[in-house]
Amino acid sequence: MSDYSQILSVTNEILQKYDLCDQCLGRLFSKQLHLSSNKLLGRKLKNEFVSTNKCYICKNLFSKLDFFLKLMLDSSSNYAFKTYGVGLLIKPSIVDRDDFIRSKYKLKGIDSIKTDIAKELIKLFTKKTQKIMDPFDPEITFTINLKDESCQLRSKSIVISGRYVKSKRGYTQKQKSCDNCSGKGCRICNFHGISEFESVEGVISKLIFKKFGGTTTKFTWIGGEDKSSLVLGNGRPFFVKIKNPSKRKPRLSDKEFDFVSLFNLKLIGESPKKPLNFNSKIKIKISTSLPINLKNLKKLKDLTTTPIVIYENSGKRYEKKIFGLKYTKNSDNVFTMTVIAEGGFPVKRFVVGNDVLPNISSLFDNPCVSQEFDFLDIMIK
Ligand SMILES: [Zn+2]
Ligand SMILES: [Zn+2]
Repeated sequence: MSDYSQILSVTNEILQKYDLCDQCLGRLFSKQLHLSSNKLLGRKLKNEFVSTNKCYICKNLFSKLDFFLKLMLDSSSNYAFKTYGVGLLIKPSIVDRDDFIRSKYKLKGIDSIKTDIAKELIKLFTKKTQKIMDPFDPEITFTINLKDESCQLRSKSIVISGRYVKSKRGYTQKQKSCDNCSGKGCRICNFHGISEFESVEGVISKLIFKKFGGTTTKFTWIGGEDKSSLVLGNGRPFFVKIKNPSKRKPRLSDKEFDFVSLFNLKLIGESPKKPLNFNSKIKIKISTSLPINLKNLKKLKDLTTTPIVIYENSGKRYEKKIFGLKYTKNSDNVFTMTVIAEGGFPVKRFVVGNDVLPNISSLFDNPCVSQEFDFLDIMIK
């Protein structure tokens, strides 16, 4: 018996007991016959059989493909993308019946019903949109729920890097989260997790939401500063991950806002995996309780030869080095010191002497506080 006539006899046997749609029937044998259209093969194999009931396996799911295609088109209409992927959620009972028929008639090496539905939807979607299906790293992913007939879309995050210069005092680096959702994203904050935009983070996020769409932003800062600090020079580097962007390749250029300017904005593959090592050039204005003694000021130079040790409440200790130091006396009780220090240097604690050794207050034997400190530059090593 030829392959085909053997298949015809199995087909007859199946159809005596189970009504199957063209697509499901064809799928059971198309690989064996090296045919690409399950539907045409199914129709041919059915011969004079007329189905009166719904398909035993899929309950006529294949007749709803246009409906699911429309869900995909609608949910992606506001997204710019080139590649996509598809995931399906399907009723377990359908999979069970599919497995049952395949094992009962010993049909091996054929596509599952789930694979076949996905293949058909991909064919339809690609034909309609010319987008490319990429199973490994798609820009957007559809999750089509065949059970409740819904479609969810997830857009791959984008990361951009840049630098900011903060030219006015009185603005924090970080934005406080939306009061209503604590940053998770809700209707009140438009799913951004922040509802105000008056910090460095806020200004950058606002620009990003305008350029990329997207829901939330997640920042990786290369160091931080006080609300009252300026960030000058080439600015502080940062990385920001944009979740669920709807645009992927907007034009990025330097931008100047009221108190912050952005430079070197560019799309990159991903946020750095490890913390970046950097040095900061910091100008610190220090006031002293007692008049400044010139002999003490000269001792400052010694700070470049010993590591500064920081003791944390947790019992941990770590060291930060000062590589260069200059100072000027401004008045009897105020002097300015410019240091080049390892990134993360705890300026205020170093001046006051809060679990940091050596520190300015004990070096001078004169209680000192930092009035303000500015970052003149941040250098990535
Ligand atoms: Zn079917
Ligand atoms: Zn919210």
